[in-house]
Amino acid sequence: MSTTAIPVLKLENVKKRFGSFSAINGISETFMPGELICAIGPNGAGKSTLLNMICGTLPVSEGRILFADKVINGLAPEKIAALGIARKFQVPSVFESLSVAENLMLAGGSAMHDGKLEALIDKVHLRAERNVRGADLPHGRKQWLEIGMALAMKPKVLLLDEPTAGLSVDETRDTARFLRQLRGQVTVIVIEHDMAFVRELDARTIVLHHGAVIASGSFEDIESNETVRDVYLGRH
Ligand code: ADP
Ligand code: MG
Repeated sequence: MSTTAIPVLKLENVKKRFGSFSAINGISETFMPGELICAIGPNGAGKSTLLNMICGTLPVSEGRILFADKVINGLAPEKIAALGIARKFQVPSVFESLSVAENLMLAGGSAMHDGKLEALIDKVHLRAERNVRGADLPHGRKQWLEIGMALAMKPKVLLLDEPTAGLSVDETRDTARFLRQLRGQVTVIVIEHDMAFVRELDARTIVLHHGAVIASGSFEDIESNETVRDVYLGRH
């Protein structure tokens, strides 16, 4: 293990404008290797926009995004993905005719030997569904398979935009638990609004509001932060 702490991802005064509307107003953040980060904030706060700029599907208006000290804003999304920044979209896209194991093997390519495959199946809680076809998986299991497929590509950074959308309470809790177990292995930035999930995740939490970071800290810090309570958690 290296003892030097070099950020894997850095945002330097990143801004995004849509016409005259300023969606992201200058965000600077540093993400470490293996760190688990949760980004929360009300609807329209700019969470998805931020993720889209990191993975290159939206151009940055101002500022810089660095991946291991290399400026990546301006690169094509495929280039950014190839560098090791994986993104799971909200809509699951697994191969319907292939089993869970086959989907994961396909995503992992030649590097996915038996031991790795079985470890990955356990990592994303799909042991019981190992041989189930994509088409026959319930929505929640499909979401997990997609996270597994992203992990199969051995990314340095994994970006998840509301991975628990449409999941049951139990599935949401399980998702938080297995994401927590990825700590130390891959940097995961997860966007959520489900507070039970955020509490269970127990990660460094960044609160966005009107395109700015208004608070950052542990979930307990965030939960007790007056400004956050005012703008987001509400007092009702
Ligand atoms: P969140 O994911 O936090 O709910 P978004 O990042 O989707 O918020 O959106 C942030 C703000 O930017 C919102 O006001 C939204 O309407 C606006 N916005 C997002 N994408 C576009 C776009 N392509 N064109 C114009 N405005 C956009
Ligand atoms: Mg969003």
